Amino acid sequence: METIANYINGEFVPSNSGSYMDVFEPATGQVYAQVPDSKKDDVESAVQAGSDAFESWSKTSPVDRSQIMHRIADGLENRLAEFAKYESRDTGKPVSLATHVDIPRAVSNFRFFANHLLTFDLKTVLDGNGSTNRIVRYPLGIVGCISPWNLPLYLFTWKIAPALATGNCVIGKPSELTPFTAFKMGEICQEAGLPDGVLNIVHGSGQNTGSAITTHPDIKAISFTGGTKTGEIISQSAAPQFKKLSLELGGKNPNIIFADCEFNEMLETTLKSSFSNQGEICLCGSRILVEDSLFERFRDAFVEKTNLLKVGDPNDDNTDLGALISKDHLEKVLGFVALAEKEGGTVLTGGKKIPINGRCENGNFMEPTIVEGLGIDSRTNQEEIFGPVVTLVPFSSEEEAVSIANSTDYGLAATVWSSDLDKAHRVADRIDSGIVWINCWMVRDLRTPFGGMKNSGVGREGGDEALRFFTEQKNICVSY
Ligand code: NAD
Repeated sequence: METIANYINGEFVPSNSGSYMDVFEPATGQVYAQVPDSKKDDVESAVQAGSDAFESWSKTSPVDRSQIMHRIADGLENRLAEFAKYESRDTGKPVSLATHVDIPRAVSNFRFFANHLLTFDLKTVLDGNGSTNRIVRYPLGIVGCISPWNLPLYLFTWKIAPALATGNCVIGKPSELTPFTAFKMGEICQEAGLPDGVLNIVHGSGQNTGSAITTHPDIKAISFTGGTKTGEIISQSAAPQFKKLSLELGGKNPNIIFADCEFNEMLETTLKSSFSNQGEICLCGSRILVEDSLFERFRDAFVEKTNLLKVGDPNDDNTDLGALISKDHLEKVLGFVALAEKEGGTVLTGGKKIPINGRCENGNFMEPTIVEGLGIDSRTNQEEIFGPVVTLVPFSSEEEAVSIANSTDYGLAATVWSSDLDKAHRVADRIDSGIVWINCWMVRDLRTPFGGMKNSGVGREGGDEALRFFTEQKNICVSY
């Protein structure tokens, strides 16, 4: 049994609270580690360490900060295979996915911001009308970064890298369901020579550790990724202290497929956008809108391809879908399938738990699931399921496709498939979401803004947006 420790002031320390939670391996249902449920005084120690380190870190030259961040990226890259196994054990995702997506992206997050900070304008000078304005950006001080369980290290580093790049000290809290790679990050930071107290990783539940971070008066900003409900709670607790907030929340993303699309490429990509990471990616397309004239052809081919996907042990190279994150989450997702049937939907394939023999017999596995025949306003078509369940919805015109796409409270991501780029751009312009992919999915340039509209979030991450979020501006004006 592993015991996870907090990483505070450059050292691995137990939580003062002495209370621990079980960490389960989703693929086996077994407890393999204990994670601290840290309380206010642990967060206080982390804030103290951050305050002590801030003076020096905020004045460290961008070149030196950049070099340390590259060394962190190197350290992670050298241990990529090991970290991919940890990530798979914590999440239930295939090791192959963690090896090709999660950990490489965590490396890229550090590399990207290590480079980007060197070209980011911390100072602008504006001359005119007998005065000069010198506009300067400063780090905020201590910032809180709270991340979810679905892409644990990928999203944790997506926050802490820009925060560190801009000279802040960080209190990071990974999800209590998937704490292991963040725990091991401490070793990498030590080896890379990140000064003590600059990054502090405090483990625990949202209720205890998370809320101690979001309400701490010396933490100036909260960068949060997680559920929309949690985002609401965090907004309420952070607002009275006027903290800066970046909220990346849930989604109910539409894939709009026009009959004139390149069929095979669309089909392959739609399979990925539906079921990668067991459908547990905020960017997965969960409502597949298909033009009438293509509907039957698409449905039959999509069901056939889905039936070929292999659900199984995440350690097996041939596995396409691993286990869902927890027993509770599996029950929630199965509950949505039952709801879909109650609402008049037809399950075309999937919908059930899958027993896997051997080491995974108690794991949280379910079949990839496709449902058709539901109303646009049904709960199944409106609420985030966050599992391997998609719905098919026919449409007859561009107008109708846009209207269905925009019919939920969410606005995170969308895809449009068409060979007519005029039409695709016209539709993309009218969809309320932070990103629209045309004829592709999950293609990311880290310089671009990332975030959601409506209940999918507030603010943008990525590129300059992230560096702006983690800095405060001052305008110094002199008349001459
Ligand atoms: P969650 O909201 O339950 O938890 C996210 C994090 O917040 C965890 O670290 C948790 O411990 C913490 N937390 C919970 N309650 C808190 C509180 N009161 N105060 C402070 N912190 C608290 O989300 P989850 O179940 O871990 O993740 C799934 C959700 O995340 C889905 O809705 C998914 O769409 C969303 N998500 C969004 C994006 C995005 O970029 N928009 C990316 C990934 C996941």
